[in-house]
Amino acid sequence: MAIYTCLDMIADCRANRPAGWSYLVGNYVPVMRLVLSHYYPDRKADRELLDQVLKALHDPLAALFAHPGAGTEREFVTALRQAVLAAVEKESANQTSAGALDLETMTAALEEFTATERQFVWLESMAYTAEQTAALMNLEASTVENARNRAEELLRSRMDHWKRGLIAETGRILGRLAAAARTEECLPARAFLDTLDGRITWIRKKDCEFHMMSCWHCIDHFCRIREADHALRVARPLGEDEAMPYRLALGLPEEKQPFWKKMFAP
Ligand SMILES: [Zn+2]
Repeated sequence: MAIYTCLDMIADCRANRPAGWSYLVGNYVPVMRLVLSHYYPDRKADRELLDQVLKALHDPLAALFAHPGAGTEREFVTALRQAVLAAVEKESANQTSAGALDLETMTAALEEFTATERQFVWLESMAYTAEQTAALMNLEASTVENARNRAEELLRSRMDHWKRGLIAETGRILGRLAAAARTEECLPARAFLDTLDGRITWIRKKDCEFHMMSCWHCIDHFCRIREADHALRVARPLGEDEAMPYRLALGLPEEKQPFWKKMFAP
């Protein structure tokens, strides 16, 4: 029997079939919870918020399902993360602060940084500690810390209003700026997925790194793919009882045993 995949789910959600929404609840509510607990730890237990986010996504025309690059599960999860954060930010006051860090300042200060070092810094803007970043990138935490300390020094020397922790504090603004800074030359998600999966030639890897040296959009995209890769490794599907309240919130028909579990039943 064929395995039901994320792609099947996207097709079913586009066609507004309950099978797609059921799979989304069972498999991706845990991912949405991870996103919330990382970016908004004070709201991680907020059922109402999660219901609101789910309802916003419960739309066959939601951008999430029209995403042309949503060809793989990790790409879908990067888009899901954006949708969750957008839903939270829609209801909270817009954070803007004068004199905050911007991409131009980062570009000028971190000119000598490699593509990898830029990701160390960018993952700080995504609220990942040096230890968490080291785990995401399969490296030593001290390597991450050294690069972050250098970045702090370089930024401090260029800014009038520097303070420790500014990168993490300005993270969501930087994230929005980077997401909007896409260019014609930007790399497809496939390039990042192939890098993570070790399916990239040395020459192509060099080309990608060369582009990332001048593009925060692609640094951000790669970091979000890394985040999705990690989230999918740690998230566990919901049990039937856990999924029930979310299914009710979406008005899905009752289901004794989710059909994708039936497929795997012995
Ligand atoms: Zn780019």
